[in-house]
Amino acid sequence: MAAASITPKIVKFGFKNYAVDDTKRTAVCRVCSIKISDTTTKTSNFIRHYKKTHRERCMNVLARKLTLSLSYVRLGFKSIKHYKEKTKR
Ligand SMILES: [Zn+2]
Repeated sequence: MAAASITPKIVKFGFKNYAVDDTKRTAVCRVCSIKISDTTTKTSNFIRHYKKTHRERCMNVLARKLTLSLSYVRLGFKSIKHYKEKTKR
């Protein structure tokens, strides 16, 4: 289905050289260059690799995103884009 041709968020975020064929998708980890593969309908191998191998990096990014989204809401901005535009100056 079309879903397989869309790069999943976790893959876009943590992997490069994303490729899909009829039965599986593969991508190379940005951090340790290990090749991960999974079926075309699942991303659990990619997620598992990140959670197991790069938990710290994963958590840091999530924490930063959460902090950012909380701070822009608290300051009354509509979106992260809006917040970034205003705080640049
Ligand atoms: Zn890795």
